[in-house]
Amino acid sequence: MNPSDAYLAHMDAIVREKVRSIESARAPEQEHYLGQAELWQRVADHVERYRDELSFIVRDLHANPELAFEETRSAEVLATTLERQGFVVKRGAHSLPTALRAEWQSVDFDPRRHRTIAVLAEYDALPGIGHACGHNIIAAAGVGGFLGAAGIGSGKIVFLGTPAEEGHTGKEYMIRAGMLDDIDAAVMVHPFNYDLSAHTWIGRRTLKVVFKGIAAHASMQPYMGRNALDAANLVYQGIGLLRQQMPPSDRIHAVIDEGGHRASIIPERAEMSIYVRSLYVDTLMDLSTRIDDILTGAALMAGVEVERSWDTHPMSLPVRNNTTLADRWAQTQAARGREVLPFGVLPDSQAASTDFGNVSQLVPGIHPTIKVAPPGVALHTKEFADYAATDAAVTAAIDAAVGLGQVIVDTLCDDHLMNKARSEFENAGGPIRATDLR
Ligand SMILES: [Zn+2]
Ligand SMILES: [Zn+2]
Repeated sequence: MNPSDAYLAHMDAIVREKVRSIESARAPEQEHYLGQAELWQRVADHVERYRDELSFIVRDLHANPELAFEETRSAEVLATTLERQGFVVKRGAHSLPTALRAEWQSVDFDPRRHRTIAVLAEYDALPGIGHACGHNIIAAAGVGGFLGAAGIGSGKIVFLGTPAEEGHTGKEYMIRAGMLDDIDAAVMVHPFNYDLSAHTWIGRRTLKVVFKGIAAHASMQPYMGRNALDAANLVYQGIGLLRQQMPPSDRIHAVIDEGGHRASIIPERAEMSIYVRSLYVDTLMDLSTRIDDILTGAALMAGVEVERSWDTHPMSLPVRNNTTLADRWAQTQAARGREVLPFGVLPDSQAASTDFGNVSQLVPGIHPTIKVAPPGVALHTKEFADYAATDAAVTAAIDAAVGLGQVIVDTLCDDHLMNKARSEFENAGGPIRATDLR
């Protein structure tokens, strides 16, 4: 079999989606269902009413950054904001102590006739550089989107505070604890250096490797040793050579955590940490197999044993963008005076990973981006952190809250939209659970 078949199988879909997305961005604006314009205005009015609270969230979380799983203060700020508006907030939702869940449902809500839509908020920061991923803006936009849409239409809206996005795949733990069990679609937004209706977010697996050899005096009896560092070195070289045959958007990065302690002793133990990232679920699993083969080959060549621990944190799946809902997002932002670029205009090479991927593989979802920084200022930099607390960041949070609220209202009120979103999701393979992948 051609080793790149898994990637090649997606190529035609990539081309078609880019063309479709660019054409749809040129489509004239129109009301999609009777009364849409009035409902959108109500969402915008709601959000405007909470401008001070949302601005406070942006600046307060930014000034008090907290790391993954330690976001107690940030979670409390969001919880009390919602409680002040009369909502009941569950702390420690879906198995994580710093997770939140709040709900609004219409008086006539009937799960057999109406839909339940989730809006997600992240609020963890990065060590040393604080809110360099702008999750303080995501938090304000999520709260604002929930408050903006609550009270409009028939159905249920669920606010989910989802901790530990950075490096820990927090949403996967919550999914395993039932976070999406009653959810029909999920929406969130991420700050960025462009306004995009959808972007490429690749899947990520982590791997810890231990090589076990035999120690020996490196001068007196080197022939009695089996060098574990040699195996780590061969893996590093093997990955370097593999890169030439990898699909262009895939990534592998590795470090050697341990490689011996003294040059005069043949290292009996070496440890590596490896990240494997890919654009699709099947190509991610395919690339993982290639890495497994390199580990086996390196161990054989060095004559050592290898132990591998995949997914030291749950794997984070690639984001499956629901283009039906993403197009609707773009229209909300056009109404805010933002120029949202169609999918595919920004090169895939700027891809990172997010645990929203796991959500988007289980229900139709969107993860658009909102511009808070100039092009070239990347996520996870000190510079981006500075932009994440500006007036432009507050404006972005407000625009994003309005957009999320309007998409939520449409998912509740526009049957045609949700039928189309649902069939797009099913045509792309239906739900995929990270726990089912091997
Ligand atoms: Zn990040
Ligand atoms: Zn982020």
